[in-house]
Amino acid sequence: MSALPVTLTAAEPPLLQLSRAVKHYPTAGGVVHALDGVDLAVGHGETLGLVGESGCGKSTVARVALRLVPLDSGQLHFDGQDLSHAGGAALRDLRARLQMVFQDPYASLNPRATIGRVLREPLIVQGRAGSAAEQREQVAWALARVGLSPDMAERHPHEFSGGQRQRIGIARALMLRPAMIVCDEAVSALDVSVRAQVLNLLLGLREEFGVAYLFISHDLGVVRHMADRIAVMYLGQVVEQGPRDRVWGTPLHPYTRALMAAMPVARPQAVRAPRTLLQGDPPNPIDPPAGCRFHPRCPLATAQCRTEAPLLRDAGDGHQVACHLA
Ligand code: ADP
Ligand code: MG
Repeated sequence: MSALPVTLTAAEPPLLQLSRAVKHYPTAGGVVHALDGVDLAVGHGETLGLVGESGCGKSTVARVALRLVPLDSGQLHFDGQDLSHAGGAALRDLRARLQMVFQDPYASLNPRATIGRVLREPLIVQGRAGSAAEQREQVAWALARVGLSPDMAERHPHEFSGGQRQRIGIARALMLRPAMIVCDEAVSALDVSVRAQVLNLLLGLREEFGVAYLFISHDLGVVRHMADRIAVMYLGQVVEQGPRDRVWGTPLHPYTRALMAAMPVARPQAVRAPRTLLQGDPPNPIDPPAGCRFHPRCPLATAQCRTEAPLLRDAGDGHQVACHLA
């Protein structure tokens, strides 16, 4: 694990960077503020853990990073290139270098296709298929990387367990030797023991290939296990981010502290007492609260918090927080 997050060296631009990213979804009920000015970056070979309650915009971050949905405003850079409005070859290149692993491996695997066909597909889409023998070799290579045997290529998704299917999803993501993989709740549907195996597989692949991860989970414990840096989202905004041990050891935002206090075990010393319990549901993203979006649930909120939105500001050593009181 690198001691210094790559993004802090400033020697090279981050691999993935979202700047002031805004994404709103117009719906019959009103405009959903899925992302409202998100700034985050993932360095080469780095793992950024993105955590927050359901509905805070994590999957939207994944979708805009892959340009599956366009940004309303703000920018997406990948490896120094502005891809905010890119199309054609630049977009195809992004989707080769940035792969995705989803929560539900079964839903993302074509049930009628053999595993071999599922794994060959990215090569074909990218025009890198080569001969039948080369394809077989690539498929066997990827299956071996995720701990499955090459003869599984002939079988169908329904023949596999949940953990094996997730390995297949990871193998598919590896086919194009990406620089980065977005894992969106990739282990959330798995049993605890299988989850640990898949997490260790992801860590091993990082060692082996230097692949970067945007590791998204609602589970702070999992994020802490995986990430070099942690970003905490609340209602379409990043409220705290920084090196893992800083955020975990000295959480500065009341929301981060509340997430930690809600963890069943292994809470860090910093939040053991007094416990900051998270009250109520997250507010409606169609009508976010004025001022600090967390203020209706914050035990410390002041008059300023109710009217003035706090900006993400530096708290030292790459640790940033958006709170008037931190
Ligand atoms: P998370 O992954 O953190 O659970 P999402 O990014 O999926 O959050 O969603 C953020 C917000 O945007 C939620 O309120 C969700 O209901 C809304 N949302 C996501 N996708 C759409 C869409 N296509 N149309 C309308 N609203 C959406
Ligand atoms: Mg999601």
